[in-house]
Formats: sequence, structure tokens, C-alpha cells
Amino acid sequence: MKPLIELVRQLEFSREEIAFLLGRREKAEVEVLRKAAEELCFAYVGNKVHFRGLVEFSNICVCDCHYCGIRKSNSEITRFFLTLDEVMQAAHWCSEQGYGSLVLQSGERRDEAFIEFVENAVRRIRAETRTAKQPDGLGITLCVGEQTRETYARFRAAGAHRYLLRIESSSPRLFRQLHPATQSLEHRLQCLQWLRETGFQVGTGVMIGIPGQTLEDLADDILFFRSLDVDMIGMGPYIVHKQTPMAAYEAEMASRGGEVYQLALNMIAVTRLVLRNVNIAATTALQAMKPTGREEGLTYGANVMMPQLTPTEFRKDYQLYEGKPCLDENRDQCRMCLQNRITGVGRVIGLHEWGDSRHARDRQD
Ligand code: SAH
Repeated sequence: MKPLIELVRQLEFSREEIAFLLGRREKAEVEVLRKAAEELCFAYVGNKVHFRGLVEFSNICVCDCHYCGIRKSNSEITRFFLTLDEVMQAAHWCSEQGYGSLVLQSGERRDEAFIEFVENAVRRIRAETRTAKQPDGLGITLCVGEQTRETYARFRAAGAHRYLLRIESSSPRLFRQLHPATQSLEHRLQCLQWLRETGFQVGTGVMIGIPGQTLEDLADDILFFRSLDVDMIGMGPYIVHKQTPMAAYEAEMASRGGEVYQLALNMIAVTRLVLRNVNIAATTALQAMKPTGREEGLTYGANVMMPQLTPTEFRKDYQLYEGKPCLDENRDQCRMCLQNRITGVGRVIGLHEWGDSRHARDRQD
């Protein structure tokens, strides 16, 4: 293996090199990796952090993913679905703050009423958030799971332009372990393909620290991101939720907390080294593991954050994992808190713009 200082400056990486970089734990080595990723982030996408206001508009879900707190079989949560007016209130607030984009995320449904709700929400947000500073309205990212090609085309026609669909793990073995037999890696790949064909900027990602996941599996995930030529990445640590079948891993995961947290940061850094000009989110799950997790994610090369806009009363019922932060806070509190966090790590907030990744812009040109 080459010396670390040479490795982090490469343009092409082998699977072994990626796995080696991901496994760095010693403080001085981690700092070499972190600094290289932060510098590449500045060089390729700049020092701005773009916000995507996150509206979790429903926790009703037809899926039963083994890891997820809002899975169909969890009967201990109250199911909710925001009204279109509640979504619009969040969108207006988002636009007034100058946050350039919004994410609509929910549990998965594929019925016509659901599809129409999303379509209407997208249309109204685009039409009603036009301002002098943002004449095209808010940028919209959807995160509503596996749908048909026709549905994706309808969402795109309504005016959404980015879509986040995590692969969760590109390893067939782990994907199987995480999902019931009704879900397949092949179909998820098909969906990602359809999203690209229907004209979306496509984002994907994985959970980090899944029981049984190796550094080589994560290296394969990064190579998978590259082969898919994705525009954006959203990934974070796997965190146990007690009301799921994977609660059995609670003690194991608790004993690995520090290791998984560092691995998640290393994943951000190495993804930045390999993919360079994509958008990478510092996700809320990082903050669930450590209060300063998201801003630390920024210092490892992330450039996107997703402030919570879900009305406070519904947040407790949208816990995909335990320890989700900011459950009692409102949007204004989140805004102040985030501003301090971002300026605290020497970054600036990109306001009134969509903040598409340079990768997406280069590809479209
Ligand atoms: N249903 C939508 C979006 C909701 S879940 C979809 O499937 O895209 C958004 C992401 O949360 C998932 O892709 C998953 O990676 C993450 N997630 C779910 N449960 C989690 C857990 N226990 N720990 C960490 N991340 C989790």
C-alpha cells in the first residue's frame, strides 16, 4: 500500500485502497484523510453549504424494512399524513428563510391518492414559492421510495427535479438481510435507472455500520456510487430502533458506537475523494450519535444539510431510528442552531439558490 499522504491525492482508487482509507482510526491518519476531503470539497464544490428543508409529510408505509422505525408492522406509533396546507406552510417558511430547496420525504405508498398528493404538493410549491430572489421557486427533492416509471415521470413533470433513493447496501447479501423477501436489490436498481431516464438528478446512499458489513462492502458501495454516476449522496450511520426485528443487535451496536460514528465520517471523506464533484449531505443520523455530528460531517467533505421543517407535533412519530435529535424544537430554533453550527466550522450558507451539484451541472451541459 502507498503512503497515506499519496493515497489521498490519487484520482483513481482500487477497492483495496478504498477499504484501507475507510479503516483509518488513528488520530493523525484520520486528520490526513479529513483534511484532504475538506480541501477537495472546497476545490470542487466550494465552501457553501446548501440547505434542503426537510418535510417528513407522512409515516404511513407499506414496506417492512427490518431496520426502520416506521415499518408497516410497528403498531406502537401513531400514523399521520400532513394536509397539503401544512406542507405549504412549511414550504413558505422555507422560502422566507432563503433556504433554496425542500425535500419531501415519507413512508412508502404507491396508490393513486398518494401519487396525486405528491404531484399537487410539488406543483403548488413550485408555483407559490416564486420570489424576486428565486424566480423559479424552491428546488424540490423527492424521497418517497420505489415507484413505477410512470409515477416518476409524473413527479418530474410536476416540477420536482431531484430524487433520493438509497440503495441501503449494494451488497446482495446485506440487502437481503435488511429487507423482507418482497423487496429486491434488482428492483431498487431498476428504480434508480428509471429516475435517471425520467430526467431526475439522482441521489443514493447507504447505511454505515450494519451488522456484518465489512470495509470491503463499504468500498463496493463507493464504487457503486461511481458506476451509477450519481449526482448526490445521502448516507449515515445505522442506528437501532427498538420496535424493529433488528433490536436484537442493540447491545452489539451500543458497544460499537464510537467506531461506527468514525466510519460514517470516513465514508463521507472517502466518497468525496473518489467522486469529487457530487453533493454530499451531512445527515441527521450523524447528529443522533453525537450532538456535533452534522457539522463534523461538513469538515469531512459534506456540503448539504437538511434542516427539519416537519411540524414539531409530528416529529416524535417519524423516528426511523432512536435518539433522533431536535424532536422538541421548532423550525426557528433549528434555523438559529444550524447557522451557528455552520459558521462555527468556517463555512457559509448558500441562500436563495437550488445548489445543484457541480456533477449534475457538468453532466447536463
Ligand atoms: N421511504 C423512503 C424514505 C424514508 S427513509 C425511502 O425508502 O426512500 C429514509 C432513509 O432513512 C432510508 O433510506 C434509510 O437509509 C434511513 N434509515 C431508516 N432506518 C434507519 C435506521 N434505523 N438507522 C439509520 N438510518 C435509517
